[in-house]
Amino acid sequence: MEQDRESLHNLIKKRGEPAYRADQLWQWIWRKKAGDFQEMTNISKALRSSLQQEFVLQPPAVVQKKEGIDGTVKLLLGLDDRLCIETVIIPEKGYYTQCISTQVGCPMGCVFCSTGGMGFKRNLTPGEIASQVLVAGRHLEDKGLDSTRLTNVVLMGMGEPLLNWDAVHRALGMMTDPLGLGLSRRRLTLSTVGIKDRLQEFGRSRLGMLAVSLHAPDQELRRRLMPGAAAWDIKDLISALEKYPLAPRERITIEYVLLKDTNDSPAQARDLVRLLSRVKCKVNLLACNPGEQAGWQPPEEQAVQAFEELLRSRGLTVTLRKSKGQDISAACGQLAAD
Ligand code: SF4
Repeated sequence: MEQDRESLHNLIKKRGEPAYRADQLWQWIWRKKAGDFQEMTNISKALRSSLQQEFVLQPPAVVQKKEGIDGTVKLLLGLDDRLCIETVIIPEKGYYTQCISTQVGCPMGCVFCSTGGMGFKRNLTPGEIASQVLVAGRHLEDKGLDSTRLTNVVLMGMGEPLLNWDAVHRALGMMTDPLGLGLSRRRLTLSTVGIKDRLQEFGRSRLGMLAVSLHAPDQELRRRLMPGAAAWDIKDLISALEKYPLAPRERITIEYVLLKDTNDSPAQARDLVRLLSRVKCKVNLLACNPGEQAGWQPPEEQAVQAFEELLRSRGLTVTLRKSKGQDISAACGQLAAD
C-alpha cells in the first residue's frame, strides 16, 4: 500500500507486465478496496501469487470503534508495530467528513490538546495516511451506508502534517488520484500550525486547501499555548499567509479555539482582526472541548458570541463551529489513542 501509481507502474514494468496492469492493480486497491490479491480476478494467478508473497495489502486494522450520540464514529487503528492512531468519521448533511492522522502522537505540545499531551512516537507512512480513508469506506459499507458520500477529508487528527511533509505529499497524491479514491482537492483540507518553507511547498502542490491553527493573536500567548509552533514568529507566519497562493475564490481557514480567560477577551478579538487584516481568510471559532488537557475551560456562551460578533462587525467571515463527537472523545483536541 506504500506504492503510488508511478512506482506501481515501475514495479509492474520490471516484472515484464504491460503498463495497464498497474492501473488495474491500483483500481483493485483504491477503488474496489480489495482486501486480498486473490480477489483481483482480471490479474493472472501467477502475478497475484508473486505479489502476495512480497507485499502486504491490508490497511491498518480497526482495534476499537466508538459511536457518539450525534453519529460521529471514532476508529482506533492498530499499526504493524503495535502503535495506534485514531481517525474520526463525521456525518454532515448528505455527506461524510473524515478526520485523519498523519503522525503517531505530535511533537508540537499544544497545551490544550490531548494528542500534544501524549508526545511524539513516529511519522506515518504515505500508505498508513491514505489507507485510513479505505478503512472508513469499509466501515460505512459494513453498516450498509454509501461510502461514496465520504467526500471530505481533513488532515486534522493526530500529528502536524507539515512535519511529515514528504509522506503527506505522497498520500495526498494517492488520495486525489482519479483512478483511485479520486477525492477532490477542494474537499481536502490540511490543518497546520504553520511550518516555515513547508507551508509554501504545500501551497505550490495545489493538493488541498489550507487551514492554520492560530489560537492566539500575539506571539507571547501563542508561545505559551503552542510551544512547538512558536519557533516561527507569528508576524512572519502572517506575512507568509498574506503571500500564500490562492485561486480567486479560495480562502485560508484560520482555526481559533476559544479558551476561557485566556484568548477570549474583546481586546484579543480586536488584535486578531488587526493581525488578519491583509490575509484572505475565514475564521473558524470553536469553544474548547471539555476533556482536553486539564485546566482549560470553554468560555461562557455569551463571551463566545461577543467574540464572534466583534470579528464579524469588523468585516471578517466567521463560523462558530459546533464540535461533534465530544461524548466519545472524538472532537478536536481530544484524540489520544487511549
Ligand atoms: S493541536 Fe495539532 S499541532 Fe497542536 S499538539 Fe494537537 S495535534 Fe499537535
